[in-house]
Formats: sequence, C-alpha cells, structure tokens
Amino acid sequence: MRLLILGGTTEASALARHLAGRRDIAPVLSLAGRTERPTLPPIPCRVGGFGGIEGLAAYLRAEAIAAVIDATHPFAARMSAHAAAACTETGVPLAAFTREGWDARLGDDWTSVVDLDAAVEALGEAPRRVFLTSGRLGLAAFRAAPQHDYLLRSIDPPPEADRPSRCEVVLGRGPFDVAAESALMRRHGIEILVTKNSGGDRAKLDAARSLGVPVVLVERPAAIGGTTFTTLDAVLAWIDNLDTTD
Ligand code: NAP
Repeated sequence: MRLLILGGTTEASALARHLAGRRDIAPVLSLAGRTERPTLPPIPCRVGGFGGIEGLAAYLRAEAIAAVIDATHPFAARMSAHAAAACTETGVPLAAFTREGWDARLGDDWTSVVDLDAAVEALGEAPRRVFLTSGRLGLAAFRAAPQHDYLLRSIDPPPEADRPSRCEVVLGRGPFDVAAESALMRRHGIEILVTKNSGGDRAKLDAARSLGVPVVLVERPAAIGGTTFTTLDAVLAWIDNLDTTD
C-alpha cells in the first residue's frame, strides 16, 4: 500500500520512522524543501511543491497512492487545503496528523491574535525587546514595526530582505529546555515573546511565565478536510483500517 506523508514536522518524521520497517506499506515522505539540511527518516523522500491541486492530484494518480497523511505544520494551510481538494478529486482517503495546540496555564500572560500582522499590532508603539519564535515564514510582517529590537530564532538564517532593521538571529532547532530558554531570554533582556500556537515543546512558554514575560500567541488557522489525529497510535490505527480492496 503506497502512502504519501506530507511532512516538514516531527510528527511526520515519527510516523515515517514507524512505517519504515513495515513490509505491507510503502510510505513516501514529501517535504516542501524549505529547510536546508532536514533530518530525514529512513524512507523514500521527495522534495518540492507538487504544482498546486492539479499537480498533487496527478502525483496521486501516477504513483498509485492509496492514502495521504497530512502531517504538515498546523500553519501550512495552503498545503493542507491542496491536499483536501486533490484527495476529494481523486477519491484518495486523507487524514491529518498534528500535535495539540497549547492551552494557557495558571500564571501565563498570553494575548491571542489571528495572524502575524495582528501580532505586530499587539507589540504596540513603544519600543520593546521582542523574542520572535514564529519562524522564518512571515518574518517580513515585523518590518512594519522597526521601533522594536528583535531576537529571531530559526533553523536556517532568514533572507536579509525579510528581516526587520534591528534583528539579531540565533539559530536553533528544538526541543529546548526551560533553563536554557530562561537564560537566553534573560541574556537578551527580552520583554515580550511572539510565537505561533504550534503545540509541542512548551519550554519557551514556561520560561516566559517564570520570568513574567508576556506572550503574543498567533492562533492556528482552521483545520481543513480529513479526520484529524493527534497521536501516533491513532493515525497508525487509521492506516491499518484502510480498505485497500479497490
Ligand atoms: P504552505 O504555505 O501551506 O504551502 C505552500 C506551498 O509549498 C504548497 O502549496 C506546496 O506547493 C508546497 N508545500 C508545502 N508543504 C509541502 C510538502 N510537505 N511537500 C511538498 N510541497 C509542500 O506551507 P508553508 O507554511 O510554506 O510550510 C512549508 C513546509 O514547512 C511544510 O512542509 C510545513 O510542514 C513546514 N513548516 C511550516 C511551518 C509554518 O509555520 N508554516 C513551521 C514549521 C514547518 P505546491 O502548491 O507547488 O504543491
């Protein structure tokens, strides 16, 4: 059974590793190609866009894909929308596999916003030292607020053209721990943290709470299409129950 995993996340890599040893399943992991040196699981991988909905539908047919697991990042809304449309068009079953979003805990000082432009607004007029962990994608939105000093953390360095004028870059790939996150924020005198509600590792949020640093949290776009699973066991059970008699 040929399975397409749409990846770029730790969830996709974990699923790929679990399926690697299965003789009844031939999984393919698809990456957009945004990260320069991705950590690749031991299954066949393809890299790069499909060419929109039609391109993906053509790929599903040409590769005789029996099912698609959309394990892209919760903010990769375009890819998810394309997967939903292409699977509907070709009749290929689709499931989404994503981690749960974060919920505020006692003592968290969070402001929820709908997108990165709203996050820029939420920083306010007065200059602040901002820790940006919202990633390289969409960074350019913060160029609209050049009064702030930014510390940006990303896996790869962002293009110069996307950076706000006062922006220091620190490279890093999670998971992170609370002590190191606290030390980093203290060292840079961070006054506010901006993050997408990606879920998973909460170290930066726990560090922010302990330091009294407020958080601007960009909420997820609405989920699109397919049943959504948040645990590996649940998505593996869905795969095992697929009807492949067609
Ligand atoms: P996006 O806006 O939803 O997708 C833009 C285009 O990139 C898609 O239309 C598709 O091109 C291509 N694409 C995206 N994911 C792909 C995949 N897994 N395999 C093949 N093509 C893919 O996506 P994005 O927000 O730029 O994210 C790109 C990748 O980075 C995703 O794999 C995502 O899981 C990962 N990621 C994103 C974020 C985030 O905050 N957005 C964070 C961490 C990781 P075509 O239309 O040509 O098929």
